[in-house]
Amino acid sequence: MGKGPSQCRCQEIVGLLADYLDGSLDPATARRLQVHLEGCTPCVAFVNTYKGTVKAARHLKETDIPAELKDRLLSFLRERNVR
Ligand SMILES: [Zn+2]
Repeated sequence: MGKGPSQCRCQEIVGLLADYLDGSLDPATARRLQVHLEGCTPCVAFVNTYKGTVKAARHLKETDIPAELKDRLLSFLRERNVR
C-alpha cells in the first residue's frame, strides 16, 4: 500500500472534530476522520481531551468552542506530534 497516514492531516482533523462530534459532518469526511484516528495515537488522545473540554465548556455555557480554546488544543496536539 502507499504511504501511511500523513501527519499534516492532524490539523485538518482538529478543525473537523467539532462537526464530527456534533454529527453534522458529511459521511465521506467523517469516514476519513475515523480512518485517520485509527492510525494516529496523538489524535485519539486529542479527541479524548477535546471531549473532556467540550463537557467542561458546556458546564459554563452551551456555545461552540471558542477559537482561543481550539488554538490551545491545537498546540497540545502539536506538542504530542513532536515525539
Ligand atoms: Zn492525527
